[in-house]
Amino acid sequence: MTQTPAHQQTSAHQHPALTATDPELAALVTAEERLQADTLRLIPSENYVSTAVLEASGTVLQNKYSEGYPGRRYYEGQQNIDQVERLAVARAKALFGTDHANVQPYSGSPANLAVYLAFAEPGDTVMGMALPMGGHLTHGWGVSATGKWFRGVQYAVRQDTGLVDFDAVRELALKERPKLIFCGGTALPRTIDFAAFAEIARESGAVLVADIAHIAGLVAGGAHPSPVPYADVISTTTHKTLRGPRGAMLLAREEHAKAIDKAVFPGLQGGPHNQTTAAIAVALHEAAQPSFRSYAHAVVANAKALAEALLARGFDLVSGGTDNHLVLMDLTSKDVPGKVAAKALDRAGIVVNYNTVPYDPRKPFDPSGVRIGTPSLTSRGLGTEHMAAVADWIDRGVRAAGTGDEDALPKIRGEVAELMTAFPAPGLPTA
Ligand SMILES: *Cc1c(COP(=O)(O)O)cnc(C)c1O
Repeated sequence: MTQTPAHQQTSAHQHPALTATDPELAALVTAEERLQADTLRLIPSENYVSTAVLEASGTVLQNKYSEGYPGRRYYEGQQNIDQVERLAVARAKALFGTDHANVQPYSGSPANLAVYLAFAEPGDTVMGMALPMGGHLTHGWGVSATGKWFRGVQYAVRQDTGLVDFDAVRELALKERPKLIFCGGTALPRTIDFAAFAEIARESGAVLVADIAHIAGLVAGGAHPSPVPYADVISTTTHKTLRGPRGAMLLAREEHAKAIDKAVFPGLQGGPHNQTTAAIAVALHEAAQPSFRSYAHAVVANAKALAEALLARGFDLVSGGTDNHLVLMDLTSKDVPGKVAAKALDRAGIVVNYNTVPYDPRKPFDPSGVRIGTPSLTSRGLGTEHMAAVADWIDRGVRAAGTGDEDALPKIRGEVAELMTAFPAPGLPTA
């Protein structure tokens, strides 16, 4: 029997049951597989999970209810599920070197909400980086439940350096005496100084929460300093640089273990998503391998090379470059709004997101910046030698956006797709 070439495969080959039951949905999945294969995905919070992680996420562990924790469940039949969760917890503790790990939070936002429930009362003051400076909604920003139910006070980065202004953070913390101080964010291209935050948290009597959602994989792989010696609680997603399924974890010192566990269940959630717990365990196993250390360092090397190549093409970068996986481009000097650039790049097969830059004169829904990152392209095997080409495509795409040269975009898209064909990713069509 001859095999159908990959590029001629349809959803019927890859998802036979799904195609038979629901061809409409199957076609959408197949289209997404094609899109992920053919485009250059530069969204820094995205990644490509391994085949093993994909398989674990798609198991019958899905079918099981397991409210509670291993050995203390409210349902019977946990012979295997308990072992799955214990494995995930043990691997999380070993990988990050923490006393305690809770792997049940459904995602990063609920994980952070559990932290509030564990350590604060409604109306208490909490402190985090302002969203437009690169913080996260759940760090007490006004439109989030965390900013409505708690009194959020925000710190900033310095306008001249793009770096956290620790004098201002200390002053604010001592004045406001927050219950929680969050460090970490979604658009921070530089190393987080956990020690400096810990010092301020100690002086002001706050619980320090390191939200390493973006950089967890870099921390695990030794490409970013660890918050473990400094933070009281560490919150992270599992699906960004850590390259696991969509999910989250809370890591803490033993003294906070009970409060964290009680807050996640029964405080905030019901049954854990066991198929996700299994996939987290797999991802943690992968992240403990030497090859993952190489991956984490390659992510950073690629981001630095891409930043250099963009600077060489006259782009302004917030903080002048990057220490991690992320580059925040300020397009003000190019006279192209971030959203216009992002939409043009999307038509060119380069997937980014528009983003505010610190002190952005434009509105959050129409900001000056574009946020890019290298976790996904590094997972596909692109190296520093490819970053000049990536920067060229971005440059041409942004120029085309500025001049309205629509015809330039499909041409770039073709070049991108041609390169990406040589760099397959798990679960995606290969040609
Ligand atoms: C992504 C992210 C979150 C939220 O994660 P979700 O899974 O999208 O809810 C929280 N904090 C930071 C810093 C993040 O980058």
